[in-house]
Amino acid sequence: MSVPCAVEEILLPGDFTMVDSVRVTCSRCGCEAESFGTGKPSITRCLAMLHEKCPSGEDNFYVDAAEKKGARSSVSAKETGPMLPKISLGRGRR
Ligand SMILES: [Zn+2]
Repeated sequence: MSVPCAVEEILLPGDFTMVDSVRVTCSRCGCEAESFGTGKPSITRCLAMLHEKCPSGEDNFYVDAAEKKGARSSVSAKETGPMLPKISLGRGRR
């Protein structure tokens, strides 16, 4: 079964500075996974980590709840597109 997971953007302490990161929370038991980066690869990594961590996760398929709400994407497990930086880090022009 698929488990919707809440995805929130957080800051994690990196080597020298705080790093934009994501935290994914399992809606079934509340277990969490965190990963550097806020792009889709980071979210995907967190979802995979939940699969390892979640005590009831053996057969579960973790999905980004927000994404599920939007477009209904078919299950394409091997989507290795270029890791485009989706986030604009406030690159305002001066
Ligand atoms: Zn869980």
